[in-house]
Amino acid sequence: MNRYRYPFLDVRKINLPYSSRMHSAFSDFIDSGRYIGGRPVEYFERDLARLAGTRYAVGVSNGLDALRLIFKGYIELGRLRHGDAVLVPANTYIASVLAVSDAGLKPVFVDADAGTMNMDTSLIESAVTPEVKAILTVHLYGRPCYDTRIKAAAAERGLLVVEDNAQAIGAVSATPSENGNCRTGGLGDAAAFSFYPTKNIGALGDAGAVTTDDTALAEAIRALANYGSDRRYHNIYKGYNCRLDPIQAALLSIKLKDLDEVCRKRRRIADIYNTNIDNPYIICPTVDAGSVWHQYVVRSDNRDELRDYLADNGVETDIHYPVPPHLQPCYREYSDLKLPVAERLADTILSLPIGSVSEEDALEIARIINGFRPEKIEK
Ligand SMILES: *Cc1c(COP(=O)(O)O)cnc(C)c1O
Repeated sequence: MNRYRYPFLDVRKINLPYSSRMHSAFSDFIDSGRYIGGRPVEYFERDLARLAGTRYAVGVSNGLDALRLIFKGYIELGRLRHGDAVLVPANTYIASVLAVSDAGLKPVFVDADAGTMNMDTSLIESAVTPEVKAILTVHLYGRPCYDTRIKAAAAERGLLVVEDNAQAIGAVSATPSENGNCRTGGLGDAAAFSFYPTKNIGALGDAGAVTTDDTALAEAIRALANYGSDRRYHNIYKGYNCRLDPIQAALLSIKLKDLDEVCRKRRRIADIYNTNIDNPYIICPTVDAGSVWHQYVVRSDNRDELRDYLADNGVETDIHYPVPPHLQPCYREYSDLKLPVAERLADTILSLPIGSVSEEDALEIARIINGFRPEKIEK
């Protein structure tokens, strides 16, 4: 049992309302006798493509594999080449960057905007060199990162735009794509989804998907994820096994129906925090009507003290993320980079409970936060 009165995230509680439908899906699955692929995967892919407003959705094993397969797919199709560079935000979960380097591409880190905490798109122009062939835009914390600068860079320089939509299923961009789509997952050339259990729509294990309008890419990814085979015992690529399990697809189809309600609830909690948190030592995130608030991230110069204070008062928090990718040991070749905004964010951000708290809980948490006074004033 969690010792906190307000746990950071209670996934068991989130899944409880689906329990009886999930049990019956499990029982159908066991009786079906088919344990790879099949209808559950097809149905889920159809629903997800509809949601993203794309022609295709391809279910895959997890979010990192979704991203890896997009980049590998573009390499197989000759749209990217080993050694090409990809702009990536400095403030992101490391999986975004791992996918780029795993495909033999070179991550070029772009610092964050302190307000949105997403990629500072005003830096794109100066970051784009002839080597750069793609932008990996990450809708971090559920907030769309897509604007006229990304569109202009794509249109004028022919860059591919890949979305890391792991945290932003259901989010809506204020800037539509060239074809008028506003939904994340349908803004760029291809998008990766994650259904890791703690994501806004979570499986009961690992799961992911790719969405795209590009027929060649969708086919390449489907083949790559299935040993590189386009038909049985015929292998056009040196592929992988990165398929989506049908049981996860079946469970996800149940939960996906509630996406609007999930987004509405999270927006409501974010709204309660935004209107009720009033403390000179804490900065609330800026409002974005299209965000789905995967995380609600405040900033404080006294972050560690604030975190301890909240823990003492029964509120569990988390940090997303305490060490930016370029300062991780596995990316030591980037350790001399100076990305001041992202580095500062890592030292000052704190994620409050949002996924499984009630409106009353959020009000109480805001009240507790308002009582925080640091002992040592950081400059
Ligand atoms: C969760 C996450 C991923 C990776 O997804 P997995 O399903 O855990 O592999 C990638 N990018 C971001 C931004 C994420 O939050």
